[in-house]
Amino acid sequence: MPINRRQFLKHSAAAVAGASLLKPNLVGNAATIITRAPAKKVLILGAGMAGLVAGYELLQLGHDVTIVEARMRPGGRVHTLREPFSDGLYAEAGAARIPDNHDLTLKYVKLFDVPLEPMYPTRFNVLRFDSGSRQEAPPEGFTAALGQNFGGEMGGDPARWHKIKGGTDLLPKAFAQRLSNKIRYNTPVVKIQQDVKGPRVTVLHGGSPETIIADRVLCTIPFSVLRNIELPSDFSDRKLSIIKGAQYAAVSRVYLQTRNRFWEDKGLNGFAFTNRAVEIWQPTWSQPGPRGILMTYARPGEAERVGEMKESERISTTLTQLDEMFPGLRERFEGGTSKYWMDDEWSRGAWSFVNVREFINATSADGKIHFAGEHLSLWSSWMQGALTSGLRAVKEIDEAS
Ligand SMILES: Cc1cc2nc3c(=O)[nH]c(=O)nc-3n(C[C@H](O)[C@H](O)[C@H](O)COP(=O)(O)OP(=O)(O)OC[C@H]3O[C@@H](n4cnc5c(N)ncnc54)[C@H](O)[C@@H]3O)c2cc1C
Repeated sequence: MPINRRQFLKHSAAAVAGASLLKPNLVGNAATIITRAPAKKVLILGAGMAGLVAGYELLQLGHDVTIVEARMRPGGRVHTLREPFSDGLYAEAGAARIPDNHDLTLKYVKLFDVPLEPMYPTRFNVLRFDSGSRQEAPPEGFTAALGQNFGGEMGGDPARWHKIKGGTDLLPKAFAQRLSNKIRYNTPVVKIQQDVKGPRVTVLHGGSPETIIADRVLCTIPFSVLRNIELPSDFSDRKLSIIKGAQYAAVSRVYLQTRNRFWEDKGLNGFAFTNRAVEIWQPTWSQPGPRGILMTYARPGEAERVGEMKESERISTTLTQLDEMFPGLRERFEGGTSKYWMDDEWSRGAWSFVNVREFINATSADGKIHFAGEHLSLWSSWMQGALTSGLRAVKEIDEAS
């Protein structure tokens, strides 16, 4: 029996978890699709995972999509560092781990044929530092330490954790490739307004202001950045106070490139967990070549200390610390870099701390302005959260009259 597209989506698991499951030729098949509401002109603010998935799915549904992005690249907090490393080596500044229960993230990985590989090595020992003692442990000792310190969600069998082979940025790039002429880079939003005629957004284009009018706006800008943008006067006090007060986590990462992976000769795989709850990763364990990268991953409490330092001091301090863990590092060290997410102009933090009551208030659309982003999901601090919230907004926008 012929059904219209909205009914199809309603009755399909794809309604929220990805309308793109529909094949375009099926979607466009006049024999099975009868009617649908007129396409809407949708302006999406931000080309991170939330904005990209929303743009992609709204496009599949026939809407007219434009994404404005402040940076010169897609992905936002998904950012693979390829510079200043040699030999094509790379390391993640943001998202890296994908657990096997993140069905939505894995769905898009599969849809776009993005290759996966294990997150953790199964060979060699890891290091653990507890109350001043240095212990070697089998590889699974790393996720065991994460589970003990950050909760069971982070631990478990190492085999349940995956990463994207070639860098996590391959996933946002896959979305962006399919949206390419819909994304406007280097176009920061400076003002959002709305009145009876609808929403209007002012962006800077080549440094000059330009106002874009749309039927619906989807704002995925992190609240840590949004609070410094001029917002509509009709936003409720409650919403404004949530936007202003949202807390974001400080995270720092420091990367050291070495001439070779000398730790393997000592039976170590380059992963360690310190008594200050700093993770040490060796992201290059699955990458070709003799060179390696050791990196630190510090969370609130420790990250701010690193953030206060200049880049050169971050590298020299980390070199001294890691040389104690992996003696011989200093002689093999070639160069380094760092990332402190509080300093990132377009993120101002790594991820939000969500309060469920606030989450419900902040998620609701204000007039014709909708919201999405990891900060508005129950999976905050994960790509899965950004994707879930993006699909929720797609449904809201598609169903709005
Ligand atoms: C250190 C770190 C580690 C992480 N680890 C993991 C992990 O292992 N696994 C995992 O799944 N997730 C991880 N995450 C979380 C994951 O990266 C995020 O949840 C997700 O990428 C957020 O997507 P988003 O679209 O909500 O926000 P963003 O990625 O921040 O996207 C928002 C976009 O808006 C743009 N923007 C900001 N201001 C403006 C403006 N004024 N005008 C126009 N555009 C603007 C930004 O440039 C950005 O592109 C990690 C994040 C960090 C920082």
